[in-house]
Amino acid sequence: MSISQLQGFATKAIHAGEEPDFRDGATGDVVVPVHLSTTFARTKVKTPTAGYEYTRSLNPTRKALETKLAALENANYGLAFASGLAAETTLLTALLRSGDHIVAFDDLYGGTKRLFNNVFVNYGVEVTFVDATGVSTVEKAIKPATRLIWIESPSNPLLKVCDISAIAKIAAANGLILVVDNTFLSPYFQKPLDLGADVVVHSSTKYIGGHSDVLGGALLLNNHEYYEKLQYHQNAIGAVLSPFDSYLTLRGVKTLALRMRQHQQNAFRIADYLSKHPKVTRVIYPGLETHPQHALAKAQGTGFGGVLSFEIVGSQSDAEVFLEKLRVIALAESLGGVESLIELPSVMTHSSVPKEVREQVGISDTLIRLSAGVEDVDDLINDLEQALTHV
Ligand SMILES: *Cc1c(COP(=O)(O)O)cnc(C)c1O
Repeated sequence: MSISQLQGFATKAIHAGEEPDFRDGATGDVVVPVHLSTTFARTKVKTPTAGYEYTRSLNPTRKALETKLAALENANYGLAFASGLAAETTLLTALLRSGDHIVAFDDLYGGTKRLFNNVFVNYGVEVTFVDATGVSTVEKAIKPATRLIWIESPSNPLLKVCDISAIAKIAAANGLILVVDNTFLSPYFQKPLDLGADVVVHSSTKYIGGHSDVLGGALLLNNHEYYEKLQYHQNAIGAVLSPFDSYLTLRGVKTLALRMRQHQQNAFRIADYLSKHPKVTRVIYPGLETHPQHALAKAQGTGFGGVLSFEIVGSQSDAEVFLEKLRVIALAESLGGVESLIELPSVMTHSSVPKEVREQVGISDTLIRLSAGVEDVDDLINDLEQALTHV
């Protein structure tokens, strides 16, 4: 049976891209080997062996990962990069020209905003940030020079949800490329290409890798012309994922289905616990019926993920005391690993966002973001409980 006939997500996560090779001389490895070779010898001047020439252009271990990630996002093509931002840089460089305009969600990952505002601005790419939770707001921001719409759903740290298929229709009607950063839900819970997006971006550093031990990024898409441009730029720019990091990511992603189910289960339990706590003033989790876009989140995905945000009573220093008292949950940036991570966006991940802008979008000084890991949830709740007694 070929992998294309294996429809289940968990099955593809384990087998896609890693089918044993039974050809003469091959060994039938069930795990793709780490091909460290930077170059590949050939017997004929004009014929690279099995298509491989030089690892920046193509490497068998990276190729296995690209195939697997494409299978998981229901994409025809996949490309793997050294980080999420390396993937984003390659995408913008390949598909845009000086003078082009982007309509972007105003609640994007901070590093993506920095890339737009501080780097691509120097190359004549203009960006308008809008609240993409309003579909007509996105449409109104389109100009003659607009080439691309860039959204993230749910967003970070406010977990706002965008209507991906409605925005995809607007993009298609205006001949624009819709890019969706799917890092927060992973393909286990949401498949933006199926909803009409043109390119999916991942920071595989997060849920896909899943163990906080390897940086990576990916682009997944169906359009052959864009794929050829992206592949050309991947090689020309060179920000590729290394063979060893490809192996680590392949190893991590095999358990994505198991992990996402447990991340979500723990997030629900924690959200429920926090919602009832007298020192917690607000809990934001798309899985809660109180979330303003719960119905949309439910309709466009198969789950709500493992990240939640909440506000506690008191001031920023109370939030700091609470965070510093935690013993099981690590006080750290990032998300999506097996270990629970917690942070204070106003001081940590979003400190570069000016205070007025933070307040305007709703990132208060006591807003806390929690990435629920896959530990025993009672240990996580007990940890939150003891730390909250200090507030
Ligand atoms: C982390 C992150 C990125 C950037 O990825 P790196 O791997 O850190 O370069 C992009 N988008 C989102 C949503 C992220 O969480």
